[in-house]
Amino acid sequence: MKKNYYDLIIVGAGPAGLFAAHELKVKSAGREGQTKNVLVIEKGNDVEERHCFVEEVGYCQHCKECNIMCGVGGAGTFSDGTLNLRPDVGGDLTEFCDPKTAWQLVEEVDRVFLEHGMPDELYSGTEEDIEDLKRRAASVGASFIEINQRHIGSDKTKAVIKAFKDDLVAHGVEFMLNTSVVDLLIEEEGAGKKRAKVCRGVITDNGDTIKCGCTLLAPGRVGATWVDEFIKRHGLDAEYADIDVGVRVEVPAITMNPVTKINRDPKFHIRTKRYDDFTRTFCTNEHGFVVKEEYDDFIGVNGHSMKTKKSKNTNFAFLVRVGLTKPVENTTRYGRSIAKLATTIGGGKPIIQRMGDLRRGRRSSWESIKRNLVKNTLADVTPGDISMALPHRIMMDIIEGLEKLNEIIPGVASDSTLLYAPEIKFYAMRAKVDMNMETTVKNLFAAGDGTGLSRDIVNAAATGILAARGMLKTCG
Ligand SMILES: Cc1cc2nc3c(=O)[nH]c(=O)nc-3n(C[C@H](O)[C@H](O)[C@H](O)COP(=O)(O)OP(=O)(O)OC[C@H]3O[C@@H](n4cnc5c(N)ncnc54)[C@H](O)[C@@H]3O)c2cc1C
Repeated sequence: MKKNYYDLIIVGAGPAGLFAAHELKVKSAGREGQTKNVLVIEKGNDVEERHCFVEEVGYCQHCKECNIMCGVGGAGTFSDGTLNLRPDVGGDLTEFCDPKTAWQLVEEVDRVFLEHGMPDELYSGTEEDIEDLKRRAASVGASFIEINQRHIGSDKTKAVIKAFKDDLVAHGVEFMLNTSVVDLLIEEEGAGKKRAKVCRGVITDNGDTIKCGCTLLAPGRVGATWVDEFIKRHGLDAEYADIDVGVRVEVPAITMNPVTKINRDPKFHIRTKRYDDFTRTFCTNEHGFVVKEEYDDFIGVNGHSMKTKKSKNTNFAFLVRVGLTKPVENTTRYGRSIAKLATTIGGGKPIIQRMGDLRRGRRSSWESIKRNLVKNTLADVTPGDISMALPHRIMMDIIEGLEKLNEIIPGVASDSTLLYAPEIKFYAMRAKVDMNMETTVKNLFAAGDGTGLSRDIVNAAATGILAARGMLKTCG
């Protein structure tokens, strides 16, 4: 029986929400005064009831028909599950705490995942290997980011999340599933200069109003549009975040092996000469598969890998950072219009093109794709010309960046390399928060990807922990 008042409500059961709940109940268990009741509201299913497989539908954004992005565990549950154990990859925790605390948070996230069954193999590479990669990158004006990583694997994450949730329930955390929070109960208090907005609870799609002391918003990327709407409606301080626009690159696994054997998800940062733009590799899937990412009005691509099923290829995203300044700052709208154009050119499917064809300014055809050395792992695509879809500047950055990368990893920009577009990383509007992760509305806290404060599992989880600590200070 659900109550109509909770001390603390968490919206979203992704890494940010789950780690916040862990901090609120499991870590404070037995401490005097820490008997807060905590409710997690999640619009998707429980982890075991989540259905749809990435191979069948790609990454679908429609929570009702498909649970890839929604449900207990969040977007991370069906993801590759690579944990980047750094506070400055996938966000920057030092914006919210000192560097020592930031590293402690990363260790904490790692430890909790290990406690719940994450495989303990650490991918770090030897000192000589790392030095060699750094040197090779530096020789072409790029940098290699050294990261310790762990890999849960798409096929193992469900079990880890189940153990995590069971532990939270055992410690008294309540879950309300298949329920969306549609609005917040925001009231004004005080007078004159002291007048301030305060969050008093949430309103769900069942029409229920549940009051609470503090609320944490952790709705992930799938909740980003909803967050944007109420940021505007309730006048929260926030700003547009930069987006990443680019392609998914697919090469024979053997091409990437010299690097992926050192680091499963190698991160190279490259500044292009022509435009001085920031480009980077992201989300490498060794022996993985390229998959579709379905949005309401366009199709994108992504990649994943599994522990049990392997392809002969490795894929990774190659992305260009795009920020906009006044008077047009809406990066989301810009990214969507690029994605829509790409979807039009692709006839409703992602576009695939051989690197050689792109370089020579000609479209790829089914014939050239079929006889290509690298076989495409995503079949539902349209061979075409990516330069008809992505802006010229981004295209030039991609070609230049991949050619530089080719000097570090020979073969990566060969003619037979396959490129899929569009791969666009949208980031939510970034809510303004203080060091307790409290927004400009009192008692309303924010964490994770949906409020633009993180971009990966570890950072989302860490911002959840920080927000939980902030909530305990305010509502504890
Ligand atoms: C395809 C893919 C692969 C990825 N691979 C990796 C990887 O290997 N390593 C890595 O570090 N990161 C990876 N990521 C990113 C990672 O999954 C996210 O950074 C992380 O899950 C963000 O955590 P979060 O808690 O902020 O949000 P999410 O994990 O998105 O969770 C938010 C939850 O909130 C729920 N929700 C949303 N709106 C509402 C609402 N109004 N009411 C109630 N509930 C709501 C959603 O259903 C969802 O379950 C990947 C992401 C994708 C999409």
